[in-house]
Amino acid sequence: MDLYEHQARELFEEHGILVPRAEVTDSPKEAREIARRLGGRVVVKAQVKTGGRGKAGGVKLAADPAAAEITARQILGMDIKGHTVGKVMLAQPVDIEAEFYASYVLDRAAGGFLAIASAEGGMEIEEVAATRPEAVARIPIDPAAGVTSAKAGEIAEAAGLPPQTVDVLVRLWEVLVREDALLVEVNPLVRTAQGQILALDGKVTLDDNARFRQARWGADAVEHDDALEATAAAKGLNYVKLDGEVGIIGNGAGLVMSTLDVVAGCGARPANFLDIGGGASAQIMADGLSVILSDPAVKSVFVNVFGGITACDAVADGIVRALDSIQLTKPLVVRLDGNNAARGRAILDERAHPLVQQATTMDGAAQRAAHLAAATA
Ligand code: GDP
Ligand code: MN
Repeated sequence: MDLYEHQARELFEEHGILVPRAEVTDSPKEAREIARRLGGRVVVKAQVKTGGRGKAGGVKLAADPAAAEITARQILGMDIKGHTVGKVMLAQPVDIEAEFYASYVLDRAAGGFLAIASAEGGMEIEEVAATRPEAVARIPIDPAAGVTSAKAGEIAEAAGLPPQTVDVLVRLWEVLVREDALLVEVNPLVRTAQGQILALDGKVTLDDNARFRQARWGADAVEHDDALEATAAAKGLNYVKLDGEVGIIGNGAGLVMSTLDVVAGCGARPANFLDIGGGASAQIMADGLSVILSDPAVKSVFVNVFGGITACDAVADGIVRALDSIQLTKPLVVRLDGNNAARGRAILDERAHPLVQQATTMDGAAQRAAHLAAATA
C-alpha cells in the first residue's frame, strides 16, 4: 500500500526527520484557518498517490490565508494523472538552498535493499538517471547489517550529499525497518538557507504482508482502484477484477490460477480471480457470486472446486443456500471433484436451478462457461 505524502511526512517526523509544519484538509475554508495558524504564507499541496504533482499544478505557493483558500479550492477536485484530489496539505514554505534525492527500495533480484541517492533532487529521479546516470548513486544494503552511520556516510559521499544528511539517511532506514516499508523516498530532501536538512516530499510504500503488525493502518486505509474490489475486500474476499467475461470462483489460489489459464485456453477471457479458500459457507458463496454478478461484463460464471478438507457436499450446500439468498441472473457452470464429489453433485441436481449446469471435468466446464459467455454476449 502506498501512503499519501502527509502520512509519509508523519512517519518521518515520528522518526526524528525534520519536516515542514503542515496540516491536511478537504475544505478550502479550513485551508484558510490552517494557513493562518502556519503563519500566513503556505505551500498548498495536492494529496494524491502519484508523483509529478508540481508539474501538474498540484503544488502552489499561497501568499496569505485568503490566497490559501482560493488555491485550495482550485486544487481540490483536480485530476492529476487519473487521481482526483480529495485533500490538500498546507505546509510552511521553506527557503530551499539545494535539493537532493534519497531513497531505499527493496531489490528483489538482489535479495536485499538498494539505497538510491543523488545531489540532483527535486525533479523526477528517472529523468536524472536516464540523462545523467553518473549523478545517481546506487548502493546495495545488506538487510541484516542495515544502514549504520558509516554506511550512510558511504551513501552520502557516493551521491555527493553534504555530511549533514548522514543522520537523516540513518533515520530514513529506521522508517523503512520499523514501519515495514518496501520503499521510502524523499524528493526533494533539501538544505535550507539556514543549513537545516528537511524532507520536503515523501513517498512510502508499506508491505501489505506486514499489515497485521501495523495496526494504525486500518482496513479503511486500503485503497482499491476498482469499486468491485473495494466491495469484495470489505466482505473479506480474495478478489481481483480482470477484463474478461467469464466469472471465476475456485478454492485455493493455485486452482483459481489454473482455472484462469484453462478458460483463456478455451478462447474466453476470465472476468476475475476469486479464491474462496476453504470457505464453503453459503455466506462466502453468496458474497462471491453477488460481487461477480454485479460486474456487467460477466456473461457466465464458472465455479471450480476441488474438494479436499472442505468436502464437495459442503460446497454444494453453500451454493444451494447462496441461490436462495441471491438472484442468479447469469448461467453458472459448476465442476465439483475430489472429496465427496458425488454427494455434492447430487445436492445440486436436486436443487435443479434452471441456470445452473454441472460438468465433471475442469476442461469441459471451462468450455461450457466460455460457450455460454459467447452465446449471451
Ligand atoms: P512533486 O512534484 O509531486 O514531487 O511534489 P513536491 O512536494 O516534491 O514539490 C515539487 C517542487 O515544488 C519541489 O521540488 C520544490 O522545488 C517545490 N517546493 C515544494 N515545497 C516548497 C517550499 O516549501 N518552498 C519552495 N521554495 N519550494 C517548494
Ligand atoms: Mn517530489
